[in-house]
Amino acid sequence: ISRSLSEVDRAKIARPPAENEDTLFGKIARKEIPANIVYEDDKVLAFRDISPAAPTHILLIPKVRDSLTRLNQIQEKHKDILGHMMWAAAEIARNEKLEEGWRLVINDGPLACQSIYHLHFHIIGGRQLGWPPG
Ligand code: 5GP
Repeated sequence: ISRSLSEVDRAKIARPPAENEDTLFGKIARKEIPANIVYEDDKVLAFRDISPAAPTHILLIPKVRDSLTRLNQIQEKHKDILGHMMWAAAEIARNEKLEEGWRLVINDGPLACQSIYHLHFHIIGGRQLGWPPG
């Protein structure tokens, strides 16, 4: 696959971590570093993206990464948490009053510019969004 990426894009692309290697989102999930939290329950945490791509830009993560590094790696045992994350995303979008339209994004892997290998959903809205994405 041919790629033409800027240096900035290149810098955003991280190698997937080893199974036991922690990520920034692990530290946020354990409250070791602060985040602007908008939703939390026993299974998931949602917080505002530090570099928002739209007026509403929220990241939703499973609290325990387990082996959930990227969507490509999900297993049958993850079906319950994935269903819960989809439900939580809709709940958050309702709380944020995004009923006119919003987007759920998962960047999966280097070609999609995934930069943090702890599975996360982007909840994006609050403006007219373009299509197709870059
Ligand atoms: P990805 O590129 O992996 O799909 O998304 C990672 C997201 O994490 C990016 O949108 C980036 O802005 C966000 N991010 C990176 N570092 C931090 C941080 O320290 N705090 C918060 N809240 N978001 C972050």
